[in-house]
Amino acid sequence: MVALVMTATRTVRAVPPTTLGIIAAKRDGQELTEAWIRWLIEAYTRGDVPDYQMAAFAMAVLLRGMTAAETAALTLAMRDSGTRAQLPRDAARPALDKHSTGGVGDKVSLILAPLLAACGARVPMISGRSLGHTGGTLDKLEAIPGFSVDVPLAAFEQAVERDGLSLIGQTADLAPADRKLYALRDVTATVESIPLITASILSKKLAEDLDVLIMDIKVGRGAFMRSLREARALARSIIRVSKLAGLRTRALITRMDAPLGRAVGNALEVKEAIEVLQGGGPADLIECSLALGSEALRAGKLARSDAHARTLLSRALRDGSAAERFERVIRAQGGEPSVVRDPARLPLAPVRREVLAQRTGYVHALDALAVGQLALRLGAGRELAGEAIDPAVGLILHKKPGDRVRRGEPLAELHTREPEDAAREAPVLQATYRIGRGPIRIPSLVVETLRS
Ligand code: URA
Repeated sequence: MVALVMTATRTVRAVPPTTLGIIAAKRDGQELTEAWIRWLIEAYTRGDVPDYQMAAFAMAVLLRGMTAAETAALTLAMRDSGTRAQLPRDAARPALDKHSTGGVGDKVSLILAPLLAACGARVPMISGRSLGHTGGTLDKLEAIPGFSVDVPLAAFEQAVERDGLSLIGQTADLAPADRKLYALRDVTATVESIPLITASILSKKLAEDLDVLIMDIKVGRGAFMRSLREARALARSIIRVSKLAGLRTRALITRMDAPLGRAVGNALEVKEAIEVLQGGGPADLIECSLALGSEALRAGKLARSDAHARTLLSRALRDGSAAERFERVIRAQGGEPSVVRDPARLPLAPVRREVLAQRTGYVHALDALAVGQLALRLGAGRELAGEAIDPAVGLILHKKPGDRVRRGEPLAELHTREPEDAAREAPVLQATYRIGRGPIRIPSLVVETLRS
């Protein structure tokens, strides 16, 4: 459950700030000034504000909320807590990025970054790791033999200019206030605050020096935002604060009730992303990539309309230019580019086991959360930050909601390290499929779009 509180009422008096005074002001529902917020973030980054006081501040924000102006001040102070990328302004090659709030089987960043670069954009993408049941772009990239996501900022900037894209992890000096505060929120039950989530995401994205940000806000069983009400509140907050911070942002709310695509697990997801980059792949994954890509190209003024954008994107998938960009970024970051032509070079799990349908009918539901947790138990994800993961394990979903299935047909295939893992999880996955008698209508993946 996310705290939806967004507004506060009174403004604090103009007296010199103290940490205690700021915490108390927020506790009492006052609106903090930009100067107080900046002072607090600077002091916290230097180590002059201890974690216990910052935790109290975060809890006060969670309970009392923040106005858009306060959230923008927090965002900009966190952005300025470290170094920022600097890209030359070039209207012909806008700097675009996409960020997802996270889901199961969400490999869209692997597709969209090379695809947008092939359409003429620059994509300075700084991504995160998997945590809990949701996957992370960095872990997927590291499934490619040799691929390094640890790239210094100067090399990142050069690669973006040269290749049109670079795909890296958050460096130590990029938005360090967010790094500290996010870790603290994780252990103090203060992650679920719309203003804190907004500032956390946007501080890192603003440090990339973007022209345009496309947010994919996932909603549903496998998402951080379970309800449409929560997803809309986050989307509105991100749009409002982006506008105040001078960043052109679009937010798409997309469904995450079932996993996206058919592959879940790091190397398996890279393979599926390559299929899309080569003009194939599952329909829902293609639609998600094209919807986000179209919004990005239009916001970056590289396309006149949705139809124009989709023509450019589809052409780059068909003519091999998007796949070529992916090869280029893999080579630039020390990886094995031949995986694009020969995905069999990706890590493979030693054990495969099919899961069969026990009845004939139509798949009515496949719980993304349950599938994500299953992949986590196989070793595809981590419970705690820093834990190792197994790049090869995961599952392929042969059947998804809406598909017709016959008794005895394969529903899915488990890829595991040990035979016992497959034996344990096969009945779990079988039970996760809800099979009903008649056909069902699958609602559109994109629920709504908000623009700043
Ligand atoms: N992702 C982030 O980067 N920060 C949050 O606070 C939540 C999700």
